[in-house]
Amino acid sequence: MRPPLFDLSGKRALVTGSSRGIGFAIAEGLARHGATVVLNARETTALESACGRLAADGYSVVSAPFDVTDHAASRQGVDEIERDIGPVDILVNNAGMQHRAPLEEFPAERWEELLRTNVSSVFNVGQAVARHMIKRGQGKIINIGSVQSELARPNIAPYTATKGAVRNLTRGMATDWARYGLQVNAIAPGYFKTVLNQALVDDAVFSTWLQGRTPAGRWGEVEELIGATVFLASAASSFVNGHTLYVDGGISISL
Ligand code: NDP
Repeated sequence: MRPPLFDLSGKRALVTGSSRGIGFAIAEGLARHGATVVLNARETTALESACGRLAADGYSVVSAPFDVTDHAASRQGVDEIERDIGPVDILVNNAGMQHRAPLEEFPAERWEELLRTNVSSVFNVGQAVARHMIKRGQGKIINIGSVQSELARPNIAPYTATKGAVRNLTRGMATDWARYGLQVNAIAPGYFKTVLNQALVDDAVFSTWLQGRTPAGRWGEVEELIGATVFLASAASSFVNGHTLYVDGGISISL
């Protein structure tokens, strides 16, 4: 009998920025489909609490705290996971941040921080993991973009620049690494209620606008990102390379 396409049993998945929000939901979803998950973030109390919640549900979970903006720390963190826990079969580059301000007043240090957190992180952890995957001739990398990989919004021009870069870095990684048996793709979420979006969640005017602007008529639930992730993490996507999969209730395809 041939194995099920979406089964992740025996696989190991590293999800960056997974102490809460989208990263945590994705980690839980990968674990639910059979993977051992390695949770990452900087702040260790929240990280250990997230690990505890997954372990209490019976999932196989390990924590690996490191700062994804730090190239050397990312390399060391990934090498330690490979040595102590085992080969990373799936990497989800999810860690990210937002900062909102009019572009003419946008603080330069926030611009740099956004680039490091949203773009350099994908390079840092992606390169560290790919060096091991390339030797094994297989691996799945999923980068978390955004509808802002495609569309601008007032006051978030730098974030839009970073997420556009994630989309094109995904294409570049796929182009360089497909020949070694890796699939690199991106997921572009629409609007989900997380800490990153708390200011928007608290803004009734924005919420009403968003629900009217989104064909599905609502915010997304973080669990709705699991299906796309499992597809891109599994054998089901073995000939999908450099694709950006929008999970956004249709906001990016309509006016
Ligand atoms: P949250 O702010 O809720 O969570 C961010 C996570 O990333 C936390 O676990 C945080 O932990 C971790 N993190 C931040 N910086 C670093 C770092 N330098 N090193 C390691 N971990 C880090 O964000 P969301 O869940 O909302 O967003 C997750 C991803 O999804 C981001 O890339 C975001 O841009 C993207 N996205 C979100 C959307 C939404 O609607 N929420 C829509 C589209 C895209 P700690 O601070 O302890 O390090």
